[in-house]
Amino acid sequence: MILDNITEEINKANNIVILTHETPDGDAIGSSLALYGALKATGKKADVIIPEYPQVFSFLPWYEEIKKESKEEKYDLAISLDCSDIKRLNGFAEYFENAKTKIVIDHHGSNTMFGDYNYVNPNSPATCEILISVFEYMGIEVNKGIGTCLATGIITDTGGFRHSTVKPETFEFTAELLNKGVNISSIYRRVLQIISMKQFEIRRIALNRMEFLEDGKIAFTYITKQEQEEMNLQTGDHEGIVEFGRDVEGVEVSIFLRELPEGGYKASFRSNEYVNVSDVCLMFGGGGHPKAAGCTILLPLEQAKEKLISQTKMYLK
Ligand code: AMP
Ligand code: MN
Ligand code: MN
Repeated sequence: MILDNITEEINKANNIVILTHETPDGDAIGSSLALYGALKATGKKADVIIPEYPQVFSFLPWYEEIKKESKEEKYDLAISLDCSDIKRLNGFAEYFENAKTKIVIDHHGSNTMFGDYNYVNPNSPATCEILISVFEYMGIEVNKGIGTCLATGIITDTGGFRHSTVKPETFEFTAELLNKGVNISSIYRRVLQIISMKQFEIRRIALNRMEFLEDGKIAFTYITKQEQEEMNLQTGDHEGIVEFGRDVEGVEVSIFLRELPEGGYKASFRSNEYVNVSDVCLMFGGGGHPKAAGCTILLPLEQAKEKLISQTKMYLK
């Protein structure tokens, strides 16, 4: 049983590094800090390395203990959370590759299984939900602090319990977390409702130029490098834009492009009913989940738009 291997490796290791995907979201940060808190509780030495992360998560326990880099040459054990592919490991693939043992815990169907032990469940709505069963198996008690981190990942990755990925267990786990004193309503408001003035302004720009193509089945918009620089946007400030397109009646696929500092575009895809956007993104070297996926495309705006839309069109009914 893989959970036996994972437990054994964690027990054996003296220094552990926790890594997650670039442009980390609530599930990435929540799962990393939940595991960090759990390892700390069992007396293990661990580092969480995340070079850039959204301020919105600064209410999470152990947030100040996140490291931007590490002086450690080699870890006994590296654990990658919520990351489908070694290329997305935040530029920290070498910590992972250099570690004696490598564990991958994730819920992306497109996971490339890049660890020695891969605990991947695509049916789980969030990596944080998978961690609950890992902690249970290892006999680690989920206290209020760990629970706050776990609830953050579950709430963000399920869009506030709205996605079709939600299972009865999702509510059961959340009910347990409520019982432990985790403030679900406050987390929900912090991570899904409140936006900064900057976020409001970038949404205004993106929505203003949103187009509806293919009889309104595709919503498309973008933001430029210049706009992001002028507004001094930080990691995560663009979150939420792609969902606006998805929520318009008749839209099946929403596409949002964000120009990258180094050139090219990061594309975010969301779908409603039947298009598997992970399949679309796999064609461009990306991936994700059936209804939420992404990829990077190194082309000028018009060409990128044309390529992504013509690929998406093939999946429309
Ligand atoms: P995003 O649109 O960035 O919020 O990403 C939506 C989902 O797709 C997340 O689960 C990501 O982990 C996944 N994803 C985004 N970009 C990529 C990529 N380049 N390669 C693989 N998966 C991705
Ligand atoms: Mn994630
Ligand atoms: Mn996730």
